[in-house]
Amino acid sequence: MSNDLHLPQATTAGHAEGSDSYSRQTAGSIMSSWSDASPCIEGVYVHVPFCAHRCHYCDFFTVADQDEQRDVFVNRLLSELDAIPDWIGPQLRTIFVGGGTPTYLLPADLRRMLSALSSRFNSENPIEFTVEANPETITEEVAGILAEGGVNRVSLGAQSFDQGLLSTLERRHDPARVTRSIELIHAAGISRTSLDLIFGIPGQDLIRWEADLDQAIEIGTGHLSCYGLIYEPGTPLRVRRDRGEIDPVEEDLEAAMYELTCDRLASHGLRQYEISNWARPGEDCQHNLLYWQTRNWWPIGPSASGHVEGWRWRNLPRLQTYLEGDGLPYIRDVEHLDEDGQVGEWFMMGLRLMEGLRREEVDLKLACEGGQRRRPIIERHLDQELLVWEGDRLALTPRGILLANIVTADLLGPARESNS
Ligand code: SF4
Repeated sequence: MSNDLHLPQATTAGHAEGSDSYSRQTAGSIMSSWSDASPCIEGVYVHVPFCAHRCHYCDFFTVADQDEQRDVFVNRLLSELDAIPDWIGPQLRTIFVGGGTPTYLLPADLRRMLSALSSRFNSENPIEFTVEANPETITEEVAGILAEGGVNRVSLGAQSFDQGLLSTLERRHDPARVTRSIELIHAAGISRTSLDLIFGIPGQDLIRWEADLDQAIEIGTGHLSCYGLIYEPGTPLRVRRDRGEIDPVEEDLEAAMYELTCDRLASHGLRQYEISNWARPGEDCQHNLLYWQTRNWWPIGPSASGHVEGWRWRNLPRLQTYLEGDGLPYIRDVEHLDEDGQVGEWFMMGLRLMEGLRREEVDLKLACEGGQRRRPIIERHLDQELLVWEGDRLALTPRGILLANIVTADLLGPARESNS
């Protein structure tokens, strides 16, 4: 199976705390380069890095041994909120608080953070306000704080309902806590929930994966994200695999699990709208759609990534440096995509969506400088039945979904690849 199914979750950003050098540059230093002085920002992503334990497959920027810093962190986040430009807010449509485990903050700190976010982003639009949570952190009190803080969607890291597979992942919650968490969230008045599941876990077979899917369906969540386990470089899990201590699931079995996912969820009314995401009507994650549609979103907190008008950057993934600072955080990995790069990225992200890309827009993108060289690539993938025109939309075929990384890498093009 292609490792396309292993693309990083779009809601998270960053890696373990690094020791690399960095410049003392903030987002303020790149704003003067933007063509629009007050661009339309539709989403904010807030990164809360604390976790009770660092799972051995995780490569997100998290800390598991600095609990005493949680209240200082929220103070610092509030100073960042005060410093972000005034023009971010009125056009906002989504807030996504991810991590890490945002609900691992102490209740008083969680309340302060949510209240600050709600009052700072007083948008003219209804806002989809999502918080990520682990099942073991959801209590009646926490669910109530989320609801009072304006949260209207909770994304739960269930990963599996099989205790043995959870242990393999080093996830410590009792699977029964997932159902209980959903009940508490609903009872608090939050109707929208999403579950994350992982397939391709060592020891998992089709029957065990099917049982996980059935359990998620039975819980009645409106949204499911299903990702194949990835052995990220630098993680303890990867080291253990490379030492031969772990027996990864065969590619063919992983592909069969993915196909089972598509069939099973479709037959229960969960429509696939993205390579790794399924939803009931009206339940698509509006925040993640911003990523796939290459819209503008603003990053808050250490390691959070942002995108504005073709500019991408990441807040420095260092907790101590963040806590010692004030206002906008230092940034790194600043990148400005030229027109060709923006077109390549538009194809790469947009083709992840099952609805595909509108012909009118495809033609417009192909008419840009350098765009024409993508036309024969599209023709080739149409001939190979990896792409298809469905009415006026260009989309991946079911086989194309399994090989999506090949199709999108071709369309991304060498100019973009050499920049990344
Ligand atoms: S709980 Fe989630 S974010 Fe935290 S270490 Fe585990 S996988 Fe990573």
